[in-house]
Amino acid sequence: MNYLKSLYKFRRFAASYFTYNCASCGKTVRGGCICRNCAEKLSPAKSQIKDCAHAYIYSGPAKELMLKYKFGEDYDYCRDTLSLWLLDAYRNFHGEKIDFAVCVPSFNKRKTRLYELSKEFCALADIPFAPSMLKKLRKTEKQHTLSAKERYKNLSGAFSADPYVIGKNILLIDDIFTTGSTVFECSKALYEKGAAKILVLTVLKTEFSD
Ligand SMILES: [Zn+2]
Repeated sequence: MNYLKSLYKFRRFAASYFTYNCASCGKTVRGGCICRNCAEKLSPAKSQIKDCAHAYIYSGPAKELMLKYKFGEDYDYCRDTLSLWLLDAYRNFHGEKIDFAVCVPSFNKRKTRLYELSKEFCALADIPFAPSMLKKLRKTEKQHTLSAKERYKNLSGAFSADPYVIGKNILLIDDIFTTGSTVFECSKALYEKGAAKILVLTVLKTEFSD
C-alpha cells in the first residue's frame, strides 16, 4: 500500500470516532459528512456519453455537499466521502488501462480543492496523479455565469498539455459535469499533444447535461 493511501485510510479511521454535521440537513453524524437519511436521497448518475463516468446527479444532498466542499469554510471533512464517490464512479471504467490522472487546473492556484480531492482519490485507486501534465494558460470567467455557447468560447484555447502525454491513456477529473465544455477543452489540449485516450470522471453531473 502506498504511503498516501495509508495516510488517507488512517485519517478516515480516526474520523470515525468523531461526530460532524451532515452537509445537507445539519443532523449530527458520526464519522462522515452526510447522514443515512440524506444518503438515501442520492440519485446515481448514468452517463450517456462514452468514456465519461459520474457518481451522482447534482441535486439535493449531493449538490449541498459539493457546494460545501467547493465554497464552504469548514469543508475539509467532506473530502473523504467525495473521494469514495469518485471511486464508485471510476468502477464504470473497469478494465481500462490508465497511465495517470490529471484534474482540471486553475490558472493561478496549484493546490485547489479539486486538486486535493483528486489526489486522495488517486491514492485510494492506485492511479499515479500527474497534475502538472495539464496547465491553464489564462484567467477565464466563472463558467456557471455563462450560457452553453459562451462557456465553450470562454475556455477556448485556455489549456495546454505537456508533451509527455503523447501515447498515454489519461483519466481527467472534474467536480461537476454540466455542458461538458470544461472537460472538452481540457481533452482537446491533451489530444493535441498526442494523448492516446482520455476518460472523464466527475463526482456529479447536472440532470440534463447529456
Ligand atoms: Zn442529512
